[in-house]
Amino acid sequence: MDIKTCPDEKTLSLLLLGKLPELQAEKLEEHLLRCDDCASRSETIIASDELTNAIQAPELARLPQLEE
Ligand SMILES: [Zn+2]
Repeated sequence: MDIKTCPDEKTLSLLLLGKLPELQAEKLEEHLLRCDDCASRSETIIASDELTNAIQAPELARLPQLEE
């Protein structure tokens, strides 16, 4: 993935939920540090009910936590 390419909102949501593969997540996180547009978009997603609902969804709660 090109770091200069902005991810779509679904990809951002998956990143914020910690559901992206580690390699992809690392690249996106680096992109967010450099891209004000994506940073503000991710804040909007964090603030949205949709993400909150997704986090609280039972099927997500049962997924194993990926640490480190
Ligand atoms: Zn971006």
